Amino acid sequence: YSNLAAAVENTITPPVKVEHTQLLIGGRFVDAVSGKTFPTLDPRNGEVIAQVSEGDAEDVNRAVAAARKAFDEGPWPKMTAYERSKILFRFADLIEKHNDEIAALETWDNGKPYEQSAQIEVPMLARVFRYYAGWADKIHGMTMPGDGPHHVQTLHEPIGVAGQIIPWNFPLLMLSWKLGPALACGNTVVLKTAEQTPLSALLVGKLLHEAGLPDGVVNIVSGFGATAGAAIASHMDVDKVAFTGSTDVGKIILELASKSNLKAVTLELGGKSPFIVCEDADVDQAVELAHFALFFNQGQCCCAGSRTFVHERVYDEFVEKAKARALKRNVGDPFKSGIEQGPQVDSEQFNKILKYIKHGVEAGATLQAGGDRLGSKGYYIQPTVFSDVKDDMLIATDEIFGPVQTILKFKDLDEVIARANNSRYGLAAGVFTQNLDTAHRLMRALRVGTVWINCFDVLDASIPFGGYKMSGIGREKGIYSLNNYLQVKAVVTSLKNPAW
Ligand code: NAD
Repeated sequence: YSNLAAAVENTITPPVKVEHTQLLIGGRFVDAVSGKTFPTLDPRNGEVIAQVSEGDAEDVNRAVAAARKAFDEGPWPKMTAYERSKILFRFADLIEKHNDEIAALETWDNGKPYEQSAQIEVPMLARVFRYYAGWADKIHGMTMPGDGPHHVQTLHEPIGVAGQIIPWNFPLLMLSWKLGPALACGNTVVLKTAEQTPLSALLVGKLLHEAGLPDGVVNIVSGFGATAGAAIASHMDVDKVAFTGSTDVGKIILELASKSNLKAVTLELGGKSPFIVCEDADVDQAVELAHFALFFNQGQCCCAGSRTFVHERVYDEFVEKAKARALKRNVGDPFKSGIEQGPQVDSEQFNKILKYIKHGVEAGATLQAGGDRLGSKGYYIQPTVFSDVKDDMLIATDEIFGPVQTILKFKDLDEVIARANNSRYGLAAGVFTQNLDTAHRLMRALRVGTVWINCFDVLDASIPFGGYKMSGIGREKGIYSLNNYLQVKAVVTSLKNPAW
């Protein structure tokens, strides 16, 4: 990678200005009660992009009070569903209008390639809100036959104030998967962004209000997990909490919810997803897809295909080609065009990944490519490939969350099913085969929330996403996510004259 080292040294000036750094509460940008701020850093060089207001429990109290008022007094849940839907459609239009500005902020704060932000993620942000705008006026209860002289019906009502805590790897998409269904169902929200990436949500929050969202319906609190995040999860006046992040913190959220008011909880947590290359695979195509499954977004995907299982018949050829593909990966300043990989989000993730790489070498896996940082500043890591990985090595059991591919060899389907399922996680899996029977066998046998067959990371707004086992509780996106934000009220009316 010596040819790339220079590419990460010169930092391009981002084509955007940071305009919003305060908390968004009750429809206004305000300082934190404490007056405190924290720096958000540029992952390309560790320099400060901006000082951001640091919300804590006091600010969460204010945000919850604003959300409560907007819920109890309206107009949001009392507006017609069509009115709510129109605001969300207008918001999606504004996202498209400001596409490049939003994308530039996202890249600056997170380090992901600008072309990925501008051409994939911001368009997906608009798409997700249009999807939920479409749902807003199609949510309704049912009538059902009772056993007695009664009229029996259900009302589908919003839960109330939703607390939402999101991570830094896809700041905007995680915001959309959470806000979209909550708003379509008529809830109000207090959203906490990740401390690494607070900026894009504040701009988007401003646009939401420009689209006509009433004050207090969405409140955005920047801040840290142990203070602002924990205050949301343990708040007595928050009716539901949705969290995406690490499994360890997911457990804390569940505990805080149970110790406070038993608020409803959905969790989208970590993964160690298998990507299974079967013996009939076209090796070139399999290498390309497995590479994408792992390296996309600097390897910082909860559903990354981070255990690449390859059938012994094609294993040697696959390893050679996977190595060659990684060596060709274009790493550099994410604002340059044609860049496939930018820096990791922060020094903590950067150091954690390098530690795992060291583990892999010490455990006896074969380092085929990479293995070190790239350049001398920022958080760039060489695309790294390990072969001869054994199931019990830490690099095969733990979520590395970085550009480190681990390749494991298998002999037959029974064996790979057992090994793929032998994980505390169960988020996703990839299957690469041309054999219909093999595809069907694997799709049913794998204990995971999503199986991608001959594709990966297809994350359309309509497709439910979530995990088995310690990868989480509940599903986001699609029709399934609406249940997370609705209460079902049964209404039974006695009938004087049931006969007709
Ligand atoms: P994290 O779980 O610590 O942070 C995610 C969010 O939770 C952030 O907004 C954070 O401020 C908040 N948080 C942290 N502690 C909290 C607490 N006690 N109470 C309430 N909220 C709290 O994740 P991280 O430290 O940023 O990353 C650690 C690891 O988590 C990564 O290496 C990766 O393995 C995993 N991760 C997974 C996802 C995912 O999409 N599933 C996303 C990011 C990170």
